[in-house]
Amino acid sequence: MKQALDILTQTFGFSEFRKSQQEVIDHLVNGEDALVLMPTGGGKSLCYQLPALLRTGTAIVISPLIALMQDQVNAAVQLGIRAAFLNSTLSSLEKYEISQIYQRGGLDLLYLAPERLQHPETLVLLETTRISLVAVDEAHCVSQWGHNFRPDYLQLSVFKETFPSVPLVALTATADEITRSEILTRLGIESAKVFIQGFDRPNIFYEVQPKNNPRRQLLKFLKSNHINQSGIVYCLSRKKTEATANRLVTQGFNALPYHAGMSSETRQENQNRFLQEDAVIMVATIAFGMGIDKPDVRFVAHLDLPKSIESYYQETGRAGRDGEPAHAWMVYGLQDVILLKQMMENGATEDKHRRLERHKLDTMLAFCEVSGCRRQILLGYFGEQLQEPCGHCDNCKTPVDTWRATEQVRKALSAIFRTGQRFGANYISDVLVGKEDERIQRFGHDRLNLFGIGPELNDREWKSLLRQLVVRGLITVDVSGYGGLLLHPSCRQILKGGEEIDLNRDLIETASTPKPIKRSTEELDYEATLFESLRDLRTMLAKAQGVPPYVIFHDRALQEMAAYRPASLDGMRSITGIGEMKLERYGQLFLDTLTSYEADQGSG
Ligand code: ADP
Ligand code: ZN
Repeated sequence: MKQALDILTQTFGFSEFRKSQQEVIDHLVNGEDALVLMPTGGGKSLCYQLPALLRTGTAIVISPLIALMQDQVNAAVQLGIRAAFLNSTLSSLEKYEISQIYQRGGLDLLYLAPERLQHPETLVLLETTRISLVAVDEAHCVSQWGHNFRPDYLQLSVFKETFPSVPLVALTATADEITRSEILTRLGIESAKVFIQGFDRPNIFYEVQPKNNPRRQLLKFLKSNHINQSGIVYCLSRKKTEATANRLVTQGFNALPYHAGMSSETRQENQNRFLQEDAVIMVATIAFGMGIDKPDVRFVAHLDLPKSIESYYQETGRAGRDGEPAHAWMVYGLQDVILLKQMMENGATEDKHRRLERHKLDTMLAFCEVSGCRRQILLGYFGEQLQEPCGHCDNCKTPVDTWRATEQVRKALSAIFRTGQRFGANYISDVLVGKEDERIQRFGHDRLNLFGIGPELNDREWKSLLRQLVVRGLITVDVSGYGGLLLHPSCRQILKGGEEIDLNRDLIETASTPKPIKRSTEELDYEATLFESLRDLRTMLAKAQGVPPYVIFHDRALQEMAAYRPASLDGMRSITGIGEMKLERYGQLFLDTLTSYEADQGSG
């Protein structure tokens, strides 16, 4: 299939297909239906954009998020693809004009909001031109049982009914088996071939640290790994997002808050700055992220624990959509566990629902405390077995050290019992190390035999031990009151002396967090100042056209330019993401920047 490869290089500027792209493209070009499951950033758009260019007619693309539609059309137009969208943001005149172009066969791609199909004239319009294929993006929205159900998606069955011979491709990043079969039946493509690529995001490095001093930990994380990069910092509360953003600003970062309590204008403004400017850090509650398709988010940091692995995976999945190295980093501590348990017990009313939420939180906690590969846990949760440890998470990089903790665990359990199962982790650890404390004296706990029997561990280590016991269910947290620790019957074996217990040694933070290794792409060596000059030029061009910078070039393209320093327009062709159109539009400008940088270097 030489032709597809030509388009890949000439139009898209890529040198090779990614895993399963080629197969899907062949299949669609042959006129067959398909369901494509690919992780975020896997390269789904190419799967329908390229066949759209190879087949006669216009491809109809259904996309649920209006904000993304604009972005995708911008990006396609930059590649020289004839693309437009029809949705409610357009004036009647604009809609009319686009319909006219469509009728003349002047479009390769027409993006359509699903609610357009409510208007009978939409179908009439679609019939005026030959349709090359139909692509349904975010196809899981058709499922009433999955998340993000969109009633408008139910109307999409009309495509196969009206145009049975036009190939239809449904694409999604999240669909379990039930959702999958629902997609197939609802869209009327029961016999479609299903392409499953799995959930793995190999370019993301996963890291979880015990929460000791979160402010300092975050700063260290940012300063040692992510200066001058875009990222998202998730917090649980609105107040905390603002406080954290302010603190980062005083530290010289370009940080903005985002939460549901802000006016919608400010929110919109902050979101736009995040998309349009380089190196903005968004400090946000989970209100932020739906429909954020920014490809060059380099890190997602969690200052608070998400309540399930689904949420965690979705939030961290916003990092590294461009396939470049990205970092998912989280700090978590016992307080997070207590807070989430309290929220959960006070929230859900139905027992069944509560049990499910409990289970989800427990799995999340297991992920935090695991001593083995984190990716194995993540993928395992989604039903995918990873045979070997991934080699690209903190635990794979620095294996967790365990220690025989039986004796200390017994001391801690006794301290909880002797103090009446009313106190939290701070108090218990103070009693164990024998801290002089007014409260302890007032309760007379300084006169207990076990007061001060644990000097072998420090305060932080005792708390780490208690946290691990909570996660293992040996002690529970009284969520109705002040979070006091209670003994669970299962700890009896250890108290009686029948069972040994090993715990993980928390990694006391090293000087800098391990730098993510690159797996997906080759390591590039370039000068940062040159990269910044290229980035400035990109910003200028993007501003002039009112599009986000990544629509002009991805970071990868700039990095390659800075590393290989092509000396001619022809040399520019070998840069990832430079096809004919971009070469013509921007090649010379970027070449000039490279040349003048060389000249400055030479003279300086
Ligand atoms: P998805 O929709 O699956 O989340 P996208 O279609 O947005 O992913 O693609 C993710 C990124 O990967 C984009 O930046 C895209 O340009 C890039 N990409 C896709 N296919 C290739 C390829 N064959 N070679 C290099 N980059 C690619
Ligand atoms: Zn691993």
